Amino acid sequence: MAYLGTPSATAEIIKKYNFTFQKRYGQNFLVDTNILEKIIRCADIKKDDCVIEIGPGIGTMTQYLAENAREVTAVEIDKNLIPILKETLLEYDNVSVLNEDILKVDIGRISEEKNGGKPVKIVANLPYYITTPIIMGLFESHVPLSSITVMVQKEVADRMQTGPGTKDYGALSLAVQYYARPEIIMNVPPSCFMPKPGVGSSVIRLTLFSEPPVKTEDEIKMFSIIKAAFNQRRKTLANSLANSSFILDGERKSVKFTRQQVCEALGQMELSHTIRGEALTLKQFAALSDLLSK
Ligand code: SAM
Repeated sequence: MAYLGTPSATAEIIKKYNFTFQKRYGQNFLVDTNILEKIIRCADIKKDDCVIEIGPGIGTMTQYLAENAREVTAVEIDKNLIPILKETLLEYDNVSVLNEDILKVDIGRISEEKNGGKPVKIVANLPYYITTPIIMGLFESHVPLSSITVMVQKEVADRMQTGPGTKDYGALSLAVQYYARPEIIMNVPPSCFMPKPGVGSSVIRLTLFSEPPVKTEDEIKMFSIIKAAFNQRRKTLANSLANSSFILDGERKSVKFTRQQVCEALGQMELSHTIRGEALTLKQFAALSDLLSK
Protein backbone atom coordinates (compact mmCIF):
# COMPACT_ATOMS: atom_id res chain seq x y z
CA MET A 1 0.00 0.00 0.00
CA ALA A 2 1.42 3.37 -1.01
CA TYR A 3 1.65 6.22 1.48
CA LEU A 4 -1.51 8.31 1.62
CA GLY A 5 -0.06 11.65 2.67
CA THR A 6 -0.30 13.39 -0.70
CA PRO A 7 -3.30 15.13 -2.30
CA SER A 8 -3.38 12.63 -5.20
CA ALA A 9 -3.20 9.46 -3.01
CA THR A 10 -5.90 10.79 -0.66
CA ALA A 11 -8.12 11.86 -3.58
CA GLU A 12 -7.78 8.37 -5.10
CA ILE A 13 -8.99 6.63 -1.90
CA ILE A 14 -11.82 9.13 -1.45
CA LYS A 15 -12.97 8.47 -5.03
CA LYS A 16 -12.59 4.69 -4.82
CA TYR A 17 -14.84 4.48 -1.74
CA ASN A 18 -17.12 7.34 -2.78
CA PHE A 19 -16.38 8.84 0.66
CA THR A 20 -18.06 12.11 1.67
CA PHE A 21 -16.22 14.35 4.17
CA GLN A 22 -18.27 14.99 7.31
CA LYS A 23 -17.84 18.53 8.57
CA ARG A 24 -19.55 17.62 11.86
CA TYR A 25 -16.68 15.18 12.59
CA GLY A 26 -13.98 17.77 11.86
CA GLN A 27 -12.65 15.76 8.92
CA ASN A 28 -9.63 17.53 7.43
CA PHE A 29 -7.09 14.92 6.35
CA LEU A 30 -3.36 15.63 6.29
CA VAL A 31 -1.85 15.60 2.81
CA ASP A 32 1.75 16.63 3.46
CA THR A 33 4.42 13.99 4.06
CA ASN A 34 6.90 16.52 5.55
CA ILE A 35 4.41 17.46 8.28
CA LEU A 36 3.58 13.80 8.95
CA GLU A 37 7.25 12.87 9.30
CA LYS A 38 7.87 15.81 11.63
CA ILE A 39 4.94 14.84 13.86
CA ILE A 40 6.29 11.29 14.21
CA ARG A 41 9.81 12.62 14.97
CA CYS A 42 8.55 15.11 17.56
CA ALA A 43 6.28 12.56 19.23
CA ASP A 44 9.51 10.57 19.66
CA ILE A 45 7.86 7.28 18.73
CA LYS A 46 10.11 4.30 19.54
CA LYS A 47 9.90 0.62 18.63
CA ASP A 48 8.64 -0.38 22.09
CA ASP A 49 5.95 2.35 22.29
CA CYS A 50 2.24 1.74 22.56
CA VAL A 51 0.38 4.57 20.81
CA ILE A 52 -3.26 5.61 20.79
CA GLU A 53 -4.33 7.61 17.74
CA ILE A 54 -7.53 9.65 17.95
CA GLY A 55 -9.37 9.89 14.61
CA PRO A 56 -7.22 8.00 12.07
CA GLY A 57 -9.35 9.17 9.10
CA ILE A 58 -8.21 7.09 6.11
CA GLY A 59 -5.12 5.93 8.03
CA THR A 60 -2.56 8.43 6.73
CA MET A 61 -0.74 9.00 10.03
CA THR A 62 -1.61 5.51 11.29
CA GLN A 63 0.72 4.00 8.66
CA TYR A 64 3.64 6.07 9.99
CA LEU A 65 2.75 5.17 13.58
CA ALA A 66 2.49 1.45 12.73
CA GLU A 67 5.95 1.51 11.18
CA ASN A 68 7.56 3.24 14.14
CA ALA A 69 5.73 1.89 17.21
CA ARG A 70 5.19 -1.58 18.67
CA GLU A 71 1.42 -1.29 18.95
CA VAL A 72 -1.16 1.24 17.70
CA THR A 73 -4.81 1.55 18.73
CA ALA A 74 -6.75 3.93 16.46
CA VAL A 75 -10.17 5.17 17.61
CA GLU A 76 -12.43 6.39 14.78
CA ILE A 77 -16.06 7.46 15.18
CA ASP A 78 -17.08 7.44 11.50
CA LYS A 79 -18.21 3.96 10.44
CA ASN A 80 -17.77 4.89 6.76
CA LEU A 81 -14.00 5.05 7.33
CA ILE A 82 -13.73 1.53 8.75
CA PRO A 83 -13.71 -0.36 5.40
CA ILE A 84 -11.16 2.16 4.09
CA LEU A 85 -8.91 1.63 7.11
CA LYS A 86 -9.14 -2.16 6.55
CA GLU A 87 -7.55 -1.67 3.14
CA THR A 88 -5.02 1.07 3.95
CA LEU A 89 -3.74 -0.70 7.08
CA LEU A 90 -3.92 -4.24 5.65
CA GLU A 91 -0.20 -4.89 5.79
CA TYR A 92 0.22 -3.87 9.45
CA ASP A 93 -0.40 -6.53 12.11
CA ASN A 94 0.25 -4.14 15.02
CA VAL A 95 -2.80 -1.86 14.51
CA SER A 96 -6.25 -2.26 16.09
CA VAL A 97 -9.04 0.02 14.88
CA LEU A 98 -11.93 0.75 17.26
CA ASN A 99 -15.09 2.22 15.73
CA GLU A 100 -15.97 4.32 18.79
CA ASP A 101 -16.35 7.84 20.13
CA ILE A 102 -13.08 8.79 21.85
CA LEU A 103 -15.03 10.64 24.55
CA LYS A 104 -16.67 7.34 25.56
CA VAL A 105 -13.67 5.02 25.27
CA ASP A 106 -12.01 3.65 28.40
CA ILE A 107 -8.39 4.63 27.66
CA GLY A 108 -7.32 3.07 30.95
CA ARG A 109 -8.51 -0.31 29.69
CA ILE A 110 -6.59 0.09 26.39
CA SER A 111 -3.41 1.02 28.26
CA GLU A 112 -3.92 -1.97 30.58
CA GLU A 113 -4.62 -4.47 27.77
CA LYS A 114 -2.02 -3.27 25.28
CA ASN A 115 0.75 -1.97 27.53
CA GLY A 116 0.28 -3.60 30.93
CA GLY A 117 -0.75 -0.23 32.42
CA LYS A 118 2.57 1.43 31.48
CA PRO A 119 2.41 4.97 30.01
CA VAL A 120 1.13 5.21 26.44
CA LYS A 121 1.67 8.03 23.90
CA ILE A 122 -1.22 9.86 22.29
CA VAL A 123 -0.73 11.14 18.75
CA ALA A 124 -3.47 12.73 16.65
CA ASN A 125 -4.60 15.26 14.14
CA LEU A 126 -7.54 16.07 16.40
CA PRO A 127 -11.13 16.79 15.41
CA TYR A 128 -11.04 20.48 16.44
CA TYR A 129 -14.66 20.68 17.62
CA ILE A 130 -13.89 18.54 20.69
CA THR A 131 -10.25 19.46 21.40
CA THR A 132 -10.84 20.68 24.97
CA PRO A 133 -13.04 17.76 26.15
CA ILE A 134 -10.55 15.28 24.66
CA ILE A 135 -7.50 16.88 26.33
CA MET A 136 -9.27 17.44 29.67
CA GLY A 137 -10.70 13.91 29.58
CA LEU A 138 -7.21 12.47 29.07
CA PHE A 139 -5.77 14.46 31.99
CA GLU A 140 -8.65 13.95 34.39
CA SER A 141 -8.85 10.20 33.75
CA HIS A 142 -5.34 9.96 35.27
CA VAL A 143 -4.55 7.22 32.76
CA PRO A 144 -0.76 6.70 32.54
CA LEU A 145 0.43 8.80 29.57
CA SER A 146 3.93 9.90 28.70
CA SER A 147 3.06 12.48 26.05
CA ILE A 148 0.27 13.88 23.90
CA THR A 149 1.37 15.18 20.47
CA VAL A 150 -1.55 16.68 18.62
CA MET A 151 -2.56 18.96 15.78
CA VAL A 152 -5.04 21.54 17.07
CA GLN A 153 -6.41 24.90 15.98
CA LYS A 154 -3.59 27.46 16.24
CA GLU A 155 -5.45 29.66 18.76
CA VAL A 156 -6.03 26.65 21.02
CA ALA A 157 -2.33 25.74 20.95
CA ASP A 158 -1.53 29.35 21.92
CA ARG A 159 -4.02 29.14 24.80
CA MET A 160 -2.40 25.95 26.09
CA GLN A 161 1.08 27.47 26.16
CA THR A 162 0.52 31.03 27.35
CA GLY A 163 1.03 32.52 30.83
CA PRO A 164 -0.77 35.14 33.00
CA GLY A 165 -1.65 38.59 31.70
CA THR A 166 -2.38 37.64 28.10
CA LYS A 167 -5.81 37.52 26.44
CA ASP A 168 -5.35 33.81 25.61
CA TYR A 169 -4.65 32.83 29.24
CA GLY A 170 -7.48 30.87 30.85
CA ALA A 171 -8.71 27.66 32.44
CA LEU A 172 -7.29 25.53 29.59
CA SER A 173 -3.79 27.09 29.99
CA LEU A 174 -3.80 26.35 33.71
CA ALA A 175 -5.11 22.79 33.36
CA VAL A 176 -2.58 21.92 30.65
CA GLN A 177 0.29 23.47 32.63
CA TYR A 178 -0.72 21.65 35.82
CA TYR A 179 -0.46 18.26 34.12
CA ALA A 180 2.15 18.79 31.39
CA ARG A 181 4.90 20.86 29.79
CA PRO A 182 3.48 22.30 26.55
CA GLU A 183 5.67 23.04 23.51
CA ILE A 184 4.36 24.29 20.18
CA ILE A 185 6.31 22.34 17.56
CA MET A 186 5.16 24.04 14.37
CA ASN A 187 2.40 25.99 12.69
CA VAL A 188 0.64 24.26 9.81
CA PRO A 189 -1.21 26.19 7.05
CA PRO A 190 -4.65 25.11 5.70
CA SER A 191 -3.02 24.06 2.40
CA CYS A 192 -1.62 20.92 4.12
CA PHE A 193 -5.13 19.44 4.57
CA MET A 194 -7.92 18.04 2.42
CA PRO A 195 -10.39 19.73 2.53
CA LYS A 196 -8.68 22.95 3.74
CA PRO A 197 -9.89 24.05 7.19
CA GLY A 198 -11.01 27.65 7.67
CA VAL A 199 -8.46 28.16 10.50
CA GLY A 200 -4.71 27.86 11.00
CA SER A 201 -3.31 24.82 12.86
CA SER A 202 -0.38 24.01 15.15
CA VAL A 203 1.20 20.84 16.39
CA ILE A 204 1.71 20.91 20.16
CA ARG A 205 3.48 18.37 22.35
CA LEU A 206 2.40 18.00 25.98
CA THR A 207 4.93 16.08 28.05
CA LEU A 208 3.22 14.77 31.16
CA PHE A 209 4.75 15.59 34.56
CA SER A 210 5.28 12.72 36.99
CA GLU A 211 4.38 15.19 39.78
CA PRO A 212 2.38 18.42 39.26
CA PRO A 213 4.61 21.55 39.40
CA VAL A 214 2.52 22.99 42.28
CA LYS A 215 0.97 21.34 45.32
CA THR A 216 -2.63 21.85 46.37
CA GLU A 217 -4.67 20.17 49.09
CA ASP A 218 -7.69 19.71 46.84
CA GLU A 219 -7.14 19.55 43.08
CA ILE A 220 -10.86 19.43 42.25
CA LYS A 221 -11.55 22.54 44.31
CA MET A 222 -8.62 24.41 42.74
CA PHE A 223 -9.95 23.70 39.23
CA SER A 224 -13.45 24.63 40.31
CA ILE A 225 -12.04 28.02 41.48
CA ILE A 226 -10.06 28.44 38.24
CA LYS A 227 -13.18 27.79 36.13
CA ALA A 228 -15.19 30.31 38.15
CA ALA A 229 -12.39 32.90 37.89
CA PHE A 230 -12.46 32.77 34.09
CA ASN A 231 -16.22 32.35 33.67
CA GLN A 232 -16.68 36.05 34.25
CA ARG A 233 -13.39 37.31 32.90
CA ARG A 234 -14.13 41.01 33.19
CA LYS A 235 -15.08 40.87 36.86
CA THR A 236 -12.59 41.03 39.72
CA LEU A 237 -11.59 37.67 41.14
CA ALA A 238 -13.35 38.47 44.44
CA ASN A 239 -16.63 39.22 42.65
CA SER A 240 -16.39 36.18 40.35
CA LEU A 241 -15.71 33.80 43.23
CA ALA A 242 -18.35 35.29 45.53
CA ASN A 243 -20.96 34.60 42.82
CA SER A 244 -20.07 30.92 42.35
CA SER A 245 -20.25 27.60 44.16
CA PHE A 246 -17.39 25.13 44.39
CA ILE A 247 -16.98 21.41 44.60
CA LEU A 248 -14.77 20.02 47.36
CA ASP A 249 -13.06 16.75 46.54
CA GLY A 250 -13.45 15.04 49.90
CA GLU A 251 -17.10 15.87 50.47
CA ARG A 252 -18.41 16.13 46.89
CA LYS A 253 -20.67 18.95 47.98
CA SER A 254 -21.01 22.47 46.72
CA VAL A 255 -19.76 25.38 48.90
CA LYS A 256 -19.86 29.17 48.58
CA PHE A 257 -17.41 31.84 49.78
CA THR A 258 -18.29 35.38 50.74
CA ARG A 259 -16.57 38.30 49.03
CA GLN A 260 -14.93 39.09 52.36
CA GLN A 261 -13.43 35.59 52.66
CA VAL A 262 -11.93 35.88 49.17
CA CYS A 263 -10.56 39.40 49.87
CA GLU A 264 -9.00 38.20 53.14
CA ALA A 265 -7.29 35.28 51.37
CA LEU A 266 -6.01 37.64 48.65
CA GLY A 267 -4.74 39.98 51.38
CA GLN A 268 -2.79 37.13 53.00
CA MET A 269 -1.20 36.49 49.61
CA GLU A 270 -0.37 40.22 49.36
CA LEU A 271 -2.59 40.59 46.29
CA SER A 272 -5.00 43.45 45.66
CA HIS A 273 -8.69 42.66 46.28
CA THR A 274 -9.41 44.16 42.83
CA ILE A 275 -7.12 41.73 41.01
CA ARG A 276 -8.57 39.68 38.12
CA GLY A 277 -8.15 35.93 37.66
CA GLU A 278 -6.11 36.41 34.49
CA ALA A 279 -3.26 37.93 36.57
CA LEU A 280 -2.77 34.89 38.84
CA THR A 281 -0.20 32.16 38.23
CA LEU A 282 -0.95 28.46 38.75
CA LYS A 283 1.01 28.61 42.02
CA GLN A 284 -1.15 31.52 43.21
CA PHE A 285 -4.37 29.68 42.33
CA ALA A 286 -3.11 26.67 44.33
CA ALA A 287 -2.30 28.93 47.32
CA LEU A 288 -5.69 30.70 47.09
CA SER A 289 -7.53 27.37 46.96
CA ASP A 290 -5.66 26.14 50.05
CA LEU A 291 -6.31 29.40 51.97
CA LEU A 292 -10.01 29.19 51.17
CA SER A 293 -10.10 25.69 52.64
CA LYS A 294 -9.11 26.97 56.07
N1 SAM B 1 -5.77 11.41 11.25
C1 SAM B 1 -6.38 11.77 9.99
C2 SAM B 1 -5.43 12.65 9.23
O1 SAM B 1 -4.57 13.27 9.85
O2 SAM B 1 -5.54 12.75 8.00
C3 SAM B 1 -7.75 12.45 10.17
C4 SAM B 1 -7.79 13.65 11.08
S1 SAM B 1 -9.32 14.54 11.05
C5 SAM B 1 -8.78 16.15 11.50
C6 SAM B 1 -10.15 14.04 12.56
C7 SAM B 1 -10.63 12.59 12.59
O3 SAM B 1 -11.28 12.36 13.86
C8 SAM B 1 -11.66 12.23 11.53
O4 SAM B 1 -11.31 11.01 10.95
C9 SAM B 1 -12.97 12.12 12.30
O5 SAM B 1 -13.91 11.24 11.73
C10 SAM B 1 -12.47 11.62 13.65
N2 SAM B 1 -13.38 11.92 14.80
C11 SAM B 1 -14.21 12.98 14.96
N3 SAM B 1 -14.85 12.92 16.14
C12 SAM B 1 -14.40 11.79 16.77
C13 SAM B 1 -14.71 11.17 18.02
N4 SAM B 1 -15.58 11.72 18.87
N5 SAM B 1 -14.09 10.01 18.33
C14 SAM B 1 -13.20 9.44 17.46
N6 SAM B 1 -12.88 9.98 16.25
C15 SAM B 1 -13.46 11.14 15.91
